[in-house]
Amino acid sequence: MNIILLGAPGAGKGTQAEVICEHLSIPSISTGNIIREALKSGTEMGKKAKSFMEEGKLVPDDVVIGIIKERLAQDDCKNGFILDGFPRTIPQAEALDKMGVAIDKVIDIEVADESIVLRMSGRRVCETCGASYHILYKQPKVEGVCDKCTGTLVQRKDDHPDTVKERLKVYHEQTEPLKSYYEKQGKLCIVEGQEDVKDTTRLTLKALEA
Ligand code: AMP
Repeated sequence: MNIILLGAPGAGKGTQAEVICEHLSIPSISTGNIIREALKSGTEMGKKAKSFMEEGKLVPDDVVIGIIKERLAQDDCKNGFILDGFPRTIPQAEALDKMGVAIDKVIDIEVADESIVLRMSGRRVCETCGASYHILYKQPKVEGVCDKCTGTLVQRKDDHPDTVKERLKVYHEQTEPLKSYYEKQGKLCIVEGQEDVKDTTRLTLKALEA
């Protein structure tokens, strides 16, 4: 199954992507993680993306479309994939359609802006493997240490409150229109992501079966 996860930054797409990844044994592809990796290794693409990302803006469409084209061509995507954080604009969704990639389901995780700001200030990510935690809602076994790879947990620069506000503005202007884009295609499933992670997970798994 080919799945897109939509939702504001901090809505919990990454966590639900991990759930689906385990449930269906298909890879989860996060453009944000790919860009952060490129930034760390100082590649040309990473250099291009750096300022956009740090200011909470979207990286130009041609750059992310290139990333996705390359990633979806890899062998592990043959039996399906989850896109976490792509597409984020109408031109990106159109590019996916033009590539002939058939999307089965678009799961939109809905969370109010106020909750997003609260959640993101407590979010911590592993600087080695990118796994996501929260100081209140998803604590690691040992404080500051990743359960999966023992890497150090840090706050992302773009999770600082001012950047979060900019990212939400960008989300409402450029990404939210994708909901009606996919609703018209009959692929949109809305998942209420406001409450406990367990509830969101239950609703996500239900949406997969619908
Ligand atoms: P994320 O980890 O998904 O929240 O992404 C972090 C940042 O990476 C975003 O704020 C953007 O700057 C950039 N980014 C990730 N995915 C995309 C995309 N599909 N289009 C444009 N920029 C993106």
